[in-house]
Formats: sequence, structure tokens, C-alpha cells
Amino acid sequence: MGKNASKGMEMRTSSTGTTSDAMKENRAMRSAILVAILGNVLLFGGKYVAGVISGSVAIQADAWHTLSDVLTSIIVIVGYRFARKPADHEHPFGHGRYELVSTMLVGVFLFAVAAMFLRQGVMQIFEHTQIHYGQLAIWTIALSIPVKEGMAQYAFHVAKRINNPALRADGWHHRSDALSSVAVLMGIPIEQWFWGMDGALAIGISLLIVAVALRTFRKVSSAIAGEAPSKELTQHITDTVNETFPALNLQPHRIRWHNYIQHQEVTLHVVLPRNLTVGQAFGVAERLERVIREKYNISATIRVEPTPPHEDADIPDPEI
Ligand SMILES: [Zn+2]
Ligand SMILES: [Zn+2]
Repeated sequence: MGKNASKGMEMRTSSTGTTSDAMKENRAMRSAILVAILGNVLLFGGKYVAGVISGSVAIQADAWHTLSDVLTSIIVIVGYRFARKPADHEHPFGHGRYELVSTMLVGVFLFAVAAMFLRQGVMQIFEHTQIHYGQLAIWTIALSIPVKEGMAQYAFHVAKRINNPALRADGWHHRSDALSSVAVLMGIPIEQWFWGMDGALAIGISLLIVAVALRTFRKVSSAIAGEAPSKELTQHITDTVNETFPALNLQPHRIRWHNYIQHQEVTLHVVLPRNLTVGQAFGVAERLERVIREKYNISATIRVEPTPPHEDADIPDPEI
């Protein structure tokens, strides 16, 4: 929640509100994407050369998978850039929700990776296809584990700092690649004692990735549907309304939150004495809207209701 008293009148430039914060965010995002792309390109080069030298088709296939991972990082950065475009005529609430689209796309890629591991695992168990790795291939796989996990850690770190779900999902992709390499390495010695163990590991990892992809989908879907404000936000708004006009019993209620990611709106109802003029009632609502904008960088729209309510003149209110 961006609390920014001095710049409340300005357009929201980042999740924390100020321009320098936005620049720091941009830099963090850029370095996270750069690390992911460089890491994957280097791994691709290493795996491809190792695959060709050792004649391992599996390592060569893995190399191409690693190169394709660059695509999801590009989706993340394109979504990030697009989401930060300022509001325009077609999109008066800004473009923040485009980030939900890029997060969803990264989730689709996670499903694809899971499907690949699942197929591999099932084939290993039921068709007993066993991939034989040479020394060079094993070393390449072993080296890729810390590299991929490092990329995952960095993505998680930046995603948490700048609160970016697409980058977090991409981090899970890195981690799932690291886990698949762990499974391959573990499968090599275990395979000699337990038939089908490497296949079982691959299936287990695919299920883990499916769980992460499903969680990503659920979060994005929930944000698209529109969510209730947090208890904290409801409390903050209620307190702010009551503190701004302590003499009036405004009874703020039906607080609704419209989250455009880069821009937030709330709507709420307040109760005012019936004998106030329209001008006075407007003055109260306008002041509250300004205070909420200055305090929380949230654009508020307030409906005023008269008290006591007039039986036949009042519009029924669902009051959810
Ligand atoms: Zn991958
Ligand atoms: Zn009401």
C-alpha cells in the first residue's frame, strides 16, 4: 500500500508511489531479467557443446529447452514494461492489469514444462527407456543445478522486493529446471538398484510444477475477478473517514476495492444528516476523497446517504 502524503496528487508511478522508487524497481527488474537470460544462454552453450561432444541427445534436447526458457523471461519483462505505461484514453485506469496476462502466460509455460517431465517419467517407468549419460554430460547437469537455483533465488528476491508475480512464476520455472537436473543425477545411481526410480522422480517433480502453475493461475484469476479489500485497508479507510470528521457519525460502509495494480480505487458509502445542503454534503465527500488520495494514493468515490433515511424516497441498498 503506497502511503505518500506529499505526492498524493501525482499519478501513481510505482507500487510505492515515488519516481525514484520506480527507477529502483526498473533497475531491479532489468537486472533480474538480464541474469535469467544470460544464465540460460550460457547454460544453453555449455549443454549444447557437452551434448555434441558426448553424443548425448538428451543433453542436446535439454540445451534447447534451456534456450527456450529465455522466452518466458522476455514475456516477464515485456509485461512489466507494458503494465507501467501511463493511463490513456482507451485505458483510464492505466495498464497495470496487463501484468496479470504475462503472469498467466508464464504459468502456461510451467504447465508445458510439467507435461514434458510427466511424459518423460511415464516413459521411463512403463517403457523402461533409460538415458545413459557420460561423464561430461553428468558434470554439465551437475553444474546447471546451482546456476538454475541461483537464478531462481535471485528472481524470488527481486519479485518479493518489487512485488511482481510474473517474475516469481519465472523463478519457479528456474527452480523446476534445477529440480529436474537433481532428479536426473539421483536417478543415475538409484536406477541400478530400483527400476523406475528416475521415472518416479520425474513424475513427482512434474506434480510439484503443476501445483505451482495452478497456484499462479488461481491468484491471477482471483485478481481478475476482483477481490475484497484487506482487513487492514478497510480499517485504515474507516479510521481515516472517522478521524477526518470526528463530530459527524459518518458510519463508513460498503467499502469496495478496485485494484488496477498500478492504480487503486475504492468506493464507499457514508451517512450524513438529512438537513445538510447538497453543497455541504459534497464538501464532506470531496474532503474525504482528497484525504484518502493523499494518505494512501487511492482514488476514492464516495456516496452519501441521508439519516434518518426517508422511507419512500430512499433507493434500496443491498449493503453487502
Ligand atoms: Zn525450463
Ligand atoms: Zn450504504
